[in-house]
Amino acid sequence: MLTLSRRAFTFGLPVTSAAVAYGPSSRAASAQGQTSSTPQQGAHAKPLPPAAQFKVGRFTITALADGYADMPFGYFPGRSAQQVEEMANAMAATKPGGIRFVFNQYLVDDGERLILIDTGPAGTLGKTGHLPSAMEAIGVRPDSIDAVIVTHMHQDHMGGLVAGGRQNFPKAEVYVDRRDVAYWTDPAKRASAPDYLKASFDISAEMMRLYPKLQQTDGERQITRGVSIVDLTGHTPGHIGVRIEDGGQSLIMVSDMLFPVVHPAATDINFVFEQDREAAKAMRAKFFPRAAEEKVLIAATHMPFPGLGRIMSDGGKMRWMTAEWAYQD
Ligand SMILES: [Zn+2]
Repeated sequence: MLTLSRRAFTFGLPVTSAAVAYGPSSRAASAQGQTSSTPQQGAHAKPLPPAAQFKVGRFTITALADGYADMPFGYFPGRSAQQVEEMANAMAATKPGGIRFVFNQYLVDDGERLILIDTGPAGTLGKTGHLPSAMEAIGVRPDSIDAVIVTHMHQDHMGGLVAGGRQNFPKAEVYVDRRDVAYWTDPAKRASAPDYLKASFDISAEMMRLYPKLQQTDGERQITRGVSIVDLTGHTPGHIGVRIEDGGQSLIMVSDMLFPVVHPAATDINFVFEQDREAAKAMRAKFFPRAAEEKVLIAATHMPFPGLGRIMSDGGKMRWMTAEWAYQD
C-alpha cells in the first residue's frame, strides 16, 4: 500500500540543502538548546491573526476569526458519538476534543459603511476572544463599526458585543430578529433550558441592557443597498442569514445552517444547542438542495476558516466545496 507519511516523503523526494537547514531536524536541535540561525521561525514566531479579504461586487468583505472550540462527538443528536467520530475520521477532521468549530465573523465594507456580521463568543467558549486583535491587525477600530447584524442569540455569535460588561461597538446600530429577542429574553424559557444554554440567555439580557436602541427585525429586510436579511429560522426561532449582492455577484452568510463534518451530507443531524430539532432539520432539508442547484457562494460561521464554500450535489449526495477567496479575477 502506498503510504504518504512524512517519512515516505523524506525518502521519496529530493532533499535540498535548504530543506535540511530549515527542516524539522534543525528545529529539534534548537529545542534542545543547540545553536539555530533562524530564531524567528517555528515556535518563536508570533502567530498572525487570520484574515481573508474578498470582493462581492462593490463590497469588500473580510473574514476574521474570534478563535475556535472543539465540540465533543456526542453533541450531534441524530447520530451516536461513535458514528460522528467515524465521519470525522473519514475526513481526517478529528481533533483532540471532537469536531473543531471555528468562529468566523464577516466585516462588510461598501465604501461608506462598515457592517460586522456576528461578534464571536469572546472567551466564553474554547480558545476565543481574538476578534479585537484581528480587527486591530487590519486597522479597524470598534467605534468605526456602523452596524452589527446578530444572526441569532447564541453566545458564540453575540458575546463580543458585551464582553467585559461594556458596549464594545458604541456607534453601531445592532440588528437582531424579533423572534430571537422574544425567545432569549423570556424568563420561563431560561428556567426550563438546559444549563449549557443559560449563558446565551444571560448574554442576551446583557445585550438588551447595553444596546437599548437595538433594532428588532421581522423576516426579510434590507439593511443597506445590497445587504439584506434572509429568514433561515430553524437553528433558533429567529435565526437569520445575510445576503450580499452587487453587480451580478452574491454571497449568502448562513451562520449556523452548516456544521463541519456532519453537513451538508446529512440534514437529520442536529447540534445540541438546537432546541427545535425538527425546525432545524426542515430548514436544512429545504436549503441544501436549493443552494446546490444555484451553486450560491456561502459563508458559514463554523466551517474551516474563512468559512467560504458551496454546496455541491454529487450524484444526489451533498458535499461542501471550499471556494477560492484570493486571486478571484
Ligand atoms: Zn454558532
